[in-house]
Amino acid sequence: MRTAFIGLGNMGSGMAAALARAGREVVAFDISAEALEQARAAGCETAASAAAAVAGAEVVITMLPAARHVSQVWRETVIPASRPDALLIDCSTIDVDTARSLGEAALAAGRVAADAPVSGGIAGARDGTLAFMVGCPEDQFARIEAAISPMARTVIRAGESGAGQAAKICNNMILGVSMLGVCEAFALAEKLSLDPERFFEIASKSSGQCWSLTSYCPWPGPVPSAPSNRDYHGGFLTSLMAKDLRLAQEAASRSGAATPLGAQALALYALFEGLGYGQRDFSAVLQLLRGRLVDLA
Ligand code: NAD
Repeated sequence: MRTAFIGLGNMGSGMAAALARAGREVVAFDISAEALEQARAAGCETAASAAAAVAGAEVVITMLPAARHVSQVWRETVIPASRPDALLIDCSTIDVDTARSLGEAALAAGRVAADAPVSGGIAGARDGTLAFMVGCPEDQFARIEAAISPMARTVIRAGESGAGQAAKICNNMILGVSMLGVCEAFALAEKLSLDPERFFEIASKSSGQCWSLTSYCPWPGPVPSAPSNRDYHGGFLTSLMAKDLRLAQEAASRSGAATPLGAQALALYALFEGLGYGQRDFSAVLQLLRGRLVDLA
């Protein structure tokens, strides 16, 4: 299956490599020469332009920073330059309205399109174990699943166009809020002289149990694989959490949903980002709540 892959950054480089490992013929493009070199080393063919990558591809995948990049690349290149029977899949995290309008533009041009944002981070991209949340016509889901399966541990159809992005921002709002709840609990436990390891043992077996606690514990020690044990490097960046929470707040204000905790969570991660910690894992916000930013030096 000839697949054009546009956007070979932290995520896209691993995803394109996972497709190539699975035997897909990947034609990759990025505006960065370094990214193209890395893609060649990972077994991809590279193209001199996005249009050249897209031409003749059965599947086109984009993994770009934000909505404005996706809109530009889709409207100027992906839609007009792709084969009429090509499958167009955007895996970037963008706002629901842009995803829907790109789906409509693709449909108007006779193409099949899907929004398929991912969860699982850079490690999931590298290992081909991402979770995909897909917005697409129901009768096209099997084709889309087959196109992305080498990069995936899970592929779930969320609904029609835009539904993948809706699921992604709702999921990440849970994550952003629950992490703050866990961080505040550890900060309070510390003030109350509770042993953090003992508190972890109790909460992880009680009603406070959640993914942010038991799989991604912000307090170093109890969960060895968590970024808290690596000085909060190599996880899900605070800047990306703030981006996703901003998308959630925009969607909430347009749809009239009440998301006061999402708003508060955004304020806290944005503050943390503004203090210069945007490149740390989002669970490092624990040190802000403890008044221990000095530990992040
Ligand atoms: P990144 O900034 O590392 O990579 C983006 C790539 O797109 C860069 O290599 C850049 O050169 C390229 N690019 C920009 N404009 C381009 C254009 N016009 N044509 C071709 N290439 C272009 O970003 P990332 O971390 O890989 O994230 C990509 C998307 O995935 C974002 O929407 C992000 O929110 C989402 N996401 C990221 C993570 C994560 O952990 N990094 C997790 C889930 C989702």
